[in-house]
Amino acid sequence: MGLLEGKKGIVFGIANDRSYAWYITKCLVEQGAECAFTHLPDEKGKMERRCRMAVKELGVEDPWLTPCDVSKDEDLDAVFAKLKSDFGKIDFIVHSVAYADRQFLQIGNFHKTSREAWTQALDISAYSLLAMGQRAVDVMPDGGAIISMTYYGGEKVIPGYNIMGVAKAALEHTTRYLAADLGEKNIRVNTISGGPLRTLAASAVGGISEMFEHQERKASMKRNITGDEVGNTAVYLLSDLSSGVTGETIHVDAGFSIVGL
Ligand code: NAD
Repeated sequence: MGLLEGKKGIVFGIANDRSYAWYITKCLVEQGAECAFTHLPDEKGKMERRCRMAVKELGVEDPWLTPCDVSKDEDLDAVFAKLKSDFGKIDFIVHSVAYADRQFLQIGNFHKTSREAWTQALDISAYSLLAMGQRAVDVMPDGGAIISMTYYGGEKVIPGYNIMGVAKAALEHTTRYLAADLGEKNIRVNTISGGPLRTLAASAVGGISEMFEHQERKASMKRNITGDEVGNTAVYLLSDLSSGVTGETIHVDAGFSIVGL
């Protein structure tokens, strides 16, 4: 029997079959979880098609899939209302969403970040976790688990990561405050600090190729990580194996962040 047999939840952030959310879903489904999905709305329906194709590869033929721009309260309200009416209650939420204007993700450009770009990055990449936590209370009456994705650039300066690093710092601390508020309701909130992975979002970050090389040289295990390694950590955090763990940032980075020099 799988570790997530009988558990249902929702995954935000599958853009294609290279997304961290896709690897997380792969591992959750392998452990028996039932997953619902959202996609970023776009006029041509490309995002919906890509998400549908990606989950089909995981054997999910007719997915529960609905549009959601996480910067819009009305979209989030609609998603959670639909979850409640279709499932009654859920057990987990996967937040694997981030955005920042790529012109400010170039090395040396952090000081040029506009107020608008700052606000948008923090809103989509960090506030959205709080917005989901708020709404989770209603669909997790017996408790549940929420995870998000962060990166070491939220703890230390990584050239090119820039405003996204500030957003990740906010995400990691939002994780702690949310965990403290929701703990009595038996809702756990944790975040995974994953190593670099070649995804759409990663391609927007200036100097990303150097990050992969640097990871291989500096990480304790002298290598990059795989999507499955993050996916399996998600299984742990969303299953009862981690029933006493909340408010944590768990590094899945082959020991990159423990090395000083
Ligand atoms: P990705 O491009 O595959 O996923 C990012 C997702 O965010 C996409 O599905 C996109 O549609 C969604 N998104 C952006 N703006 C949105 C909005 N307004 N509303 C709803 N969805 C929106 O890239 P990824 O690398 O898989 O990113 C997933 C998460 O992993 C992000 O939080 C990212 O910061 C984090 N992360 C990535 C890396 C890496 O190297 N790829 C490392 C550590 C953490």
